[in-house]
Amino acid sequence: MIVELEKDLPPEAKTDLILKLKANRCDCRELPPVAGERIGVLGKPGCSEEEIRRLPGVARVLRVKTPFKLVGREMHPQDTRVRVGDVLVGGENISVIAGPCAVESLEQALTIAREVKRAGAALFRGGAFKPRTSPYSFQGLEEQGLKILAEVRETLGIGVVTEMTSPSQADLMMKYIDVVQVGARNMQNFELLKCVGRMGKPVLLKRGLSGTIEEWLMSAEYILAEGNHQVILCERGIRTFEPYTRNTLDLSAIPVLKKLTHLPIIVDPSHATGMREKVSPMARSAVAAGADGLMIEVHHDPEHALSDGAQSLYPQQFRQLMRDIYVIAPVVGKQLDFSHLERVRVIERKRQNGSARQRAGFMGRIGTFSHKACLQYFGDAAEAVPLPTFQSIFEAIRAGGIDYGIVPLENSLSGSIHENYDLLRDYDLRIIGEVKIRIMQNLLAKPGTDLSDIRRVLSHPQGIEQCRQFLSQHQWELVAVSDTAGAAERVSVSQDAGEAAIAGLITADIYGLAVIAEGIETNPRNYTRFVVVGREPIENRLASKTSLILSAKNEPGALFSILQVFAEQKINMIKLESRPIPGEPWRYMFYIDIETDLESEALSTVRAALVDKSEYFKVLGCY
Ligand code: PEP
Ligand code: MN
Repeated sequence: MIVELEKDLPPEAKTDLILKLKANRCDCRELPPVAGERIGVLGKPGCSEEEIRRLPGVARVLRVKTPFKLVGREMHPQDTRVRVGDVLVGGENISVIAGPCAVESLEQALTIAREVKRAGAALFRGGAFKPRTSPYSFQGLEEQGLKILAEVRETLGIGVVTEMTSPSQADLMMKYIDVVQVGARNMQNFELLKCVGRMGKPVLLKRGLSGTIEEWLMSAEYILAEGNHQVILCERGIRTFEPYTRNTLDLSAIPVLKKLTHLPIIVDPSHATGMREKVSPMARSAVAAGADGLMIEVHHDPEHALSDGAQSLYPQQFRQLMRDIYVIAPVVGKQLDFSHLERVRVIERKRQNGSARQRAGFMGRIGTFSHKACLQYFGDAAEAVPLPTFQSIFEAIRAGGIDYGIVPLENSLSGSIHENYDLLRDYDLRIIGEVKIRIMQNLLAKPGTDLSDIRRVLSHPQGIEQCRQFLSQHQWELVAVSDTAGAAERVSVSQDAGEAAIAGLITADIYGLAVIAEGIETNPRNYTRFVVVGREPIENRLASKTSLILSAKNEPGALFSILQVFAEQKINMIKLESRPIPGEPWRYMFYIDIETDLESEALSTVRAALVDKSEYFKVLGCY
């Protein structure tokens, strides 16, 4: 049950209450506050619910309806993010775990780990204790395999995941591994579950071959009951009557689980399908269905793999899959970030040197799309700081008040945001990264409001503009305000029950509003690309894109000769836009994005040629 405490209960009174509960054989757990402090009570207490209700300091007692108490959303409504070193699984990131089915040798593990890391995998997998159907099949390298995994981590700086098949392996796992996997065959091995619960390391809990969702969640409950809340659920297909695939991937488990539990959910399409060519389609579908990540088997020489070669992707296929996921993720409000590890490390290193927490500025207030972009890019690696204008962000970075800024550079429907290009030209700052956000607009109002109650709708002028088609079906008064989050805030405190706001979904949570209509923007292909700006380039060996501004000389063929450089070097140009140079009528500046790291050593002569052919030339950043 959930015991809600009286408002502003002094800490001593809370301690007193907990002691009284414990005296009544209540197993008490700290719960995250929801509108007030709460205590979770597990199991059957030694007194009645009524007696608990009468204890001093208790405001209310609520029964938890589901059998999975700690795992369910009643006790813990907010999403859990599982931290594995620098990687956060859950929330807005798609985390991909990739590697061979089994560790076969140091050379094999390093070869594959290099490939998957380069393609953007966040963690490396490889089995050392293999639960095989036949006792005569390869059983894994055991401790030797774990040592190899630890060496992969040391060499490449990537966290490692492996399966633990018995509590007797706990010490070895503690020594060598970052995430312990409980395999499908052990989902209900309760001694193993209790053991990984006590170990306290992040756990990846696979769904059993015939496990129901409730049984699976009860297994996770075993781990949380031991005090370990760092659990990632992994759907890997269930046994059905269908023989064309190894198992049947239950994608509907994702939305079902998202409602029931706060734990992150990833999908393993490799063991689900058992066939290489089926893996990528199911991986793409899993992300579209809302999964927080994927576990994919990859092998550089699958024909000779010691296990599961038939379902292992070639590195090239894995790279292509990662590019597809990169495109799909923003559709469902998430992102796959290829250089996440590099970047977080740079930010962390700076923090260690300068000690203070890094700060990142965005324009507007909490709950705007800029704020979402900031959270999506930095996670908890930097503090998000709201600032009033774009220029104030650039100023604050220059003056050192903040370390980074995040500003929109272009929208897929309305084009470039010239003010920010101008600021990038004028300030001596650098683009160090980017994030694309899908702009989904929603009609929000106080809980209990019906569509027919609405008389007036507030939003940023662009929010209103983007929803014209939906709005034209109603006779509502439309009121333009300075930003979407401001509209939501005003509706939340308004006395007028007929008011609604058009804003992003996160503002509904922040201001306690209900979603009356979701996705009401006319054109669903509405994305904004934000760039992250800092004082100096970050060391990013994975940079694959350069943004630059240049103006061509005032002579025939000037722009042509610049573009010829790209053509000759086979450099792919993904953006070319011109705009007038302020104060110089009929002269133009070009915004160019190319798919290469123009500041790499190898391209120094190319860079020199471009500078030579341009009148003005500035690299805004390589990222
Ligand atoms: C594995 O991931 O290596 C594995 C054996 O998977 P599962 O437990 O899902 O069969
Ligand atoms: Mn396998």
